[in-house]
Amino acid sequence: MTTGGTMSRRAVVIGGSVAGLLAAAALSRSVDDVIVLERDELPDGPHPRKRIPQARHAHILLPSGRDAIQELLPEADVRQRLLTSGAVEQSMTGMLGFGAQGWYRRWPTVADELLLTCCSRDLLDSVLRDAVLGTTRVAVRRAEALSLLGTAERVTGVRVLADGSEEDLSADLVVDASGRGTRVEPWLDRLGVADIPTDEVDSGLVYASRVFRVPGGAEDFPLTQVEADPAASRPGRSGVLVPIEDGRWLVSLAGTRGGEPTADPEEFTDFALGLRHPLVGQLISGAEPLSEVFLSRSTRNRRREFERAAMPEGLVVLGDAVATYNPVHGQGMSVAALGAQALSRQLQQADVTAAGFARDVQRAAARSVSAAYTVSTSQDQWFPEVVGRAPTLADSLLSRYRGRMARVATTSYSVYAAMRAVVTLQADASSLLRPKLLLATLKGPVMEPLTGPPLTPGESAFVDSMGPVLV
Ligand SMILES: Cc1cc2nc3c(=O)[nH]c(=O)nc-3n(C[C@H](O)[C@H](O)[C@H](O)COP(=O)(O)OP(=O)(O)OC[C@H]3O[C@@H](n4cnc5c(N)ncnc54)[C@H](O)[C@@H]3O)c2cc1C
Repeated sequence: MTTGGTMSRRAVVIGGSVAGLLAAAALSRSVDDVIVLERDELPDGPHPRKRIPQARHAHILLPSGRDAIQELLPEADVRQRLLTSGAVEQSMTGMLGFGAQGWYRRWPTVADELLLTCCSRDLLDSVLRDAVLGTTRVAVRRAEALSLLGTAERVTGVRVLADGSEEDLSADLVVDASGRGTRVEPWLDRLGVADIPTDEVDSGLVYASRVFRVPGGAEDFPLTQVEADPAASRPGRSGVLVPIEDGRWLVSLAGTRGGEPTADPEEFTDFALGLRHPLVGQLISGAEPLSEVFLSRSTRNRRREFERAAMPEGLVVLGDAVATYNPVHGQGMSVAALGAQALSRQLQQADVTAAGFARDVQRAAARSVSAAYTVSTSQDQWFPEVVGRAPTLADSLLSRYRGRMARVATTSYSVYAAMRAVVTLQADASSLLRPKLLLATLKGPVMEPLTGPPLTPGESAFVDSMGPVLV
């Protein structure tokens, strides 16, 4: 846009959640006018809001996402703000994890790249909002995006509904960050852009979550996770207990098609006790519930490959609007942050109006999307009654290799760290084919696998005080 002889740029971001706010923060360093359109009323503080129903469920921020946020908002120190507000940093080496191949050992190593940030999604959103609105020139406007303006060659703006009337907002760049419910495909269709390659793997996973007060004596109990076993030929059931702010545990249970949890509070603890190991159930059996049980069915893996489509200039799609993943791996918000980081890095090299700008961002952002999607679907493909792409012979061989490696990872720190780096989007999956790891995987476990959770004496005493397991 040209105003008074000088070139002024405007970017419009659809959606004011993780992907949208971070994309806006990236843009605000090089674009004069950055407007975020959000149809929800944004609360002041860590409160639930209507259009983020997933906020009721465990939301872990991976170190890759945390670091991307730090890079995008250097002045805000989001990490420190979260800690000050009560978020807990949990080292992956100190958590209690029962994987498909057994209990992981706990290791004394604590490094930044191993820390998971644990807090409620409401707190994370609130801190992020304050950080973006307090340290950048981004403006949020209460409005709903109705369609895209422009042609199949270039998007030139967004038609919005604000205060009951429609209006056309012109923009040099539009970012769609409107989440899993995005209407970007029909919008593009109307401009004459069709055939976005799409992939889907849906295990029919249902999430059930409930908040508890941490019982006396368990204040330092770590994040505890019992994973499903995709190779067991039965519905996958899993559970995670996450320590969050204000002395609470957020417990999320999940089951694939045929093994789904229900919203019945009477069944919640029993479901947890009936997992492959009862530890999560034991921990909550005497804990005071602070909420009802919330369900979510928004868990399928779905990916739209915009980077392979004939997309118009002037439009980038980020966050859940691109892809969604089985939430068990905790990747969505981090992929959103890494996508915004890709945008930020592209802005350091080119102007938003440059030819191919949007395509280059879309391609760069696709790297972490692919990585997360592969981690998630390579496991989900194996559950019974999965809807979507069936595993190939290559998938089957890789899965056996990964299973064997995971077995070794329960006994070897270096193999464990290599596998975690891939799941947490800090390393490419190809890193697991390094000769050293191949050799370690072929050799097998380096010590006796554990037969039960590696509890400290204090943790053990607490679990025992919860009484015998009655299942
Ligand atoms: C059960 C569950 C558990 C999860 N656990 C984790 C986890 O542990 N770790 C993790 O990283 N991720 C997790 N996720 C994924 C995470 O919730 C998403 O990846 C993340 O919210 C994506 O952010 P987003 O900004 O792309 O979309 P959203 O957070 O969904 O935000 C989209 C925004 O766009 C707005 N909007 C939509 N349409 C319009 C419109 N037309 N006009 C204006 N505004 C609009 C909405 O109001 C909303 O604010 C989980 C998801 C689920 C379902």
